[in-house]
Amino acid sequence: MKIIKAMVGALALGLATMSFGAHAQDKGLVGIAMPTKSSLRWISDGNELKAALEAKGYTVDLQYAEDDIPNQLAQIEGMVTKGAKALVVASIDGTTLSQVLQQAKDGGAITVAYDRLIRESPNVDYYTTFDNFKVGVLQAESLVAGLKERFGDQKPWNVELFGGSPDDNNAFFFYDGAMSVLQPMIDSGEIVIKSGQTGMEKVGTLRWDAAVAQARMDNILSANYSDGSRVHGVLAPYDGLSRGIISSLRGVGYGSADQAWPIITGQDAETPSVKAIIAGEQYSTVFKDTRELAKVTAALVDTALSGGQPEINDTKTYENGVKVVPSYLLVPVSVDKSNYEKIVVESGYIKAEELK
Ligand code: BGC
Repeated sequence: MKIIKAMVGALALGLATMSFGAHAQDKGLVGIAMPTKSSLRWISDGNELKAALEAKGYTVDLQYAEDDIPNQLAQIEGMVTKGAKALVVASIDGTTLSQVLQQAKDGGAITVAYDRLIRESPNVDYYTTFDNFKVGVLQAESLVAGLKERFGDQKPWNVELFGGSPDDNNAFFFYDGAMSVLQPMIDSGEIVIKSGQTGMEKVGTLRWDAAVAQARMDNILSANYSDGSRVHGVLAPYDGLSRGIISSLRGVGYGSADQAWPIITGQDAETPSVKAIIAGEQYSTVFKDTRELAKVTAALVDTALSGGQPEINDTKTYENGVKVVPSYLLVPVSVDKSNYEKIVVESGYIKAEELK
């Protein structure tokens, strides 16, 4: 009887230790809210983040909202209800999240704005992103380099401007960065915006929607270029928009022997757009290594939840309307035909076969 009791005792102790052991492994739930699967980059961000956090012992709830604001809000509410200890949010419109972020804070959770700053909330603890102003600078510098190379003898250059979604804080940084390079050239008359459309309120593209950009390019072409004048360059802030703009231009004959492609920029090094760069349709893109962003973010979440001080490298730039959010910025890289192999293929971001 004694032996049996001892055995039962040992077994109970063993089970208790086992379940305690299993519990120690599980560091809790992290909710990841991504904006949409319609863009390749967010799919890769989500997967990389999930894997990195799981490797550190967290359980992950990864959700995509298909660019629908109430949908994203409901997803984040669900994460908070399930007791998420941290929220990692790439918002669609961050200003709609104030209430749920307050709830998260009240429950002791931390919130990290992922790539896109969440505005108008005091409850954004950290921001991980790339140097977004620099992204715009790189886009404009590459646009100007391309204009010199392809249309050096055709000054002034006719350029049209596209901006990102006005509910995404990044869109203003991209635009302002680009205009820091282009505005002096517009002022000096080297660049002409034939449509006259400048400023984010005129050039913004709601929800980064390619169809919206394509329709706007169609209108610009018919209203301003039916007289036979040529578009020499298009500032496009994101590869998806660039592809819409390319379709519009193709529709009126660009990309043929007597109508060279304008210089078109982009962002994200999405596979179809790197293909378009190889084909000479798009001139450049900006590569942001989202694998690195995911790694940095997962480490930051883990450090913060373990009571440590996460590494931050910017405490000035990202004022969200309520406070300056401590940020970690990664470095974006301009990519064109001359360096795509080195930057995107050799780094393993895109496989060579995918570009065939
Ligand atoms: C991101 C870009 C992306 C865009 C559209 C921005 O917030 O920083 O990388 O191209 O959203 O998804």
